Amino acid sequence: MTMDKALVVLSGGQDSTTCLYWAIDRFGVDNVSSVTFDYGQRHRIEISCARQIAELANVSNVVLPIDTFAALGGDALTDLDMAVASDLDEASGLPNTFVPGRNLIFLSFAAALAYQRAITHLVTGVAETDYSGYPDCREETLQSLQASLRLGMESPIQIHTPLMHLSKMATVQLAVALGAMPAMAMTHTCYNGMRPPCGTCPACVLRAKGFKDAGVDDPLTLAQ
Ligand SMILES: [Zn+2]
Repeated sequence: MTMDKALVVLSGGQDSTTCLYWAIDRFGVDNVSSVTFDYGQRHRIEISCARQIAELANVSNVVLPIDTFAALGGDALTDLDMAVASDLDEASGLPNTFVPGRNLIFLSFAAALAYQRAITHLVTGVAETDYSGYPDCREETLQSLQASLRLGMESPIQIHTPLMHLSKMATVQLAVALGAMPAMAMTHTCYNGMRPPCGTCPACVLRAKGFKDAGVDDPLTLAQ
């Protein structure tokens, strides 16, 4: 019997880093690898953060390029002519950083990579409690995608979402319990791409609240 292996979608952010340590805890470090997507995101720093975090955690990291999102346009994460809006779009109720279908595409490519490597477990840091309410982060979406991937690849692929129902505070507590704090100092969260973090964008505010509620100092801001 082969040991179960897991592939973690590692963005270089707080949530996916917590998931990396969750996977190491569950599957063992030798059975975990990571994939990072270069999808033309405005903050190139995310990719180098992911690499550094994977290196610290002693897991391999593959960067896969997907340059199609920027060609689609219309979202502030990949369209460099658009500014990140602080308010939600009135029509959609979503922030303009929403990249339609991003997680579906990421997880499909991750599943294809996993298939090639005889890996059956995918781990992603999506959460329903995410303030943005991205519809591709919902549990129902992920369950439906898992069913499609299983059918479409004839593989017993399993998508794990350990943070799905956790508050940001609980995610911080989980990261502490898993020993992920040294890696947390290398993560990137700020939507404005600033290092040290700007402290005022929605992503920075949410991150700061999670650490404050958990009563934990954020190693990222402490390191500055
Ligand atoms: Zn910020």
